[in-house]
Amino acid sequence: MHEAMVAESIIDSILSQVPNKHGRVIRVVISCGQINAINDEAMKFAFDIAAEETICKDAKLKIKHIPLKATCENCSKKFNYDLYDPCCPKCSKNDIKIGEDAPLLLEEIEFEEN
Ligand SMILES: [Zn+2]
Repeated sequence: MHEAMVAESIIDSILSQVPNKHGRVIRVVISCGQINAINDEAMKFAFDIAAEETICKDAKLKIKHIPLKATCENCSKKFNYDLYDPCCPKCSKNDIKIGEDAPLLLEEIEFEEN
């Protein structure tokens, strides 16, 4: 499962970034793009499993979805690409150039000292 692997690597990087182990992680914020979007429910479930027996246990996971930027080749309008409605919001043409998708990033770790 894709999310399980992502969750494991998130926990690994949290553990390597947290200064000491005398406390616990209470909140984690990650962000991801639209094309490689992860499923929120599956991700939270996988995160809880991966967090078991670490200082991340019971941490709240927040997932931010970063919109994909697109530019219309017809009228040059820049807009947020919608996978379900891939047309320019200004001229309704679908001759659009899609920007780079955002990578999966660990954005924030909230740590609470004991
Ligand atoms: Zn347009």
